[in-house]
Amino acid sequence: MLEDKDFFKSCDVPGPTKEAIRAILLYKSEVTSDDKVVDCGCGTGGITCEFAQRAHEVISIDTNPEAIEITNKNLDKFGLGDNVTLINDNGSNALKDIDDIDIAIVGGSGRELENILDIVHDKLNSKGRILITAILVDTKVEAINKLKDLGYNPKIMEVNISNGRVLDRGILMISENPIAIISAKKR
Ligand code: SAH
Repeated sequence: MLEDKDFFKSCDVPGPTKEAIRAILLYKSEVTSDDKVVDCGCGTGGITCEFAQRAHEVISIDTNPEAIEITNKNLDKFGLGDNVTLINDNGSNALKDIDDIDIAIVGGSGRELENILDIVHDKLNSKGRILITAILVDTKVEAINKLKDLGYNPKIMEVNISNGRVLDRGILMISENPIAIISAKKR
């Protein structure tokens, strides 16, 4: 796993998604070296960089040009990127040109989650997996309801991570934002 502290960050781009969350996403995705992965809302590239090391191909999309720039910088920093395509566009638009997806990760969707999930459903192959990371309660509910409407049996895991800081006078546990991982499989 890459370490959070090694990523380039930007005050205008959220991320990287924390290491422990990236690890859960990797195991839940069941990623293999044959997989075609889409990272919709790639931010700083936290998730893109992990999947680039394990998948056949990663296509990363973000509406914010600065996110594409910083994802590119992080890929370079970690010596990755040969199997990554970066697209500066809205997920709902870019996804229309992508077929046969094995794993779709939605880490950002603005107000377009339902629309993006409709397209993802259409573009996912028969063994496809969907993973959504959500911080807002509303996004969690929207994701679950939409996946149910599309015929999936979605799962939701709420994750609260606290990391310890070892101080002279003791160990201080510092919590990170709770985040939900919503997952569903086509098969
Ligand atoms: N997982 C990322 C953080 C994602 S933050 C990391 O590890 O760094 C969410 C990102 O989603 C933001 O960069 C935002 O610009 C992007 N985003 C929001 N709505 C989007 C949409 N409709 N299409 C593509 N990207 C979108």
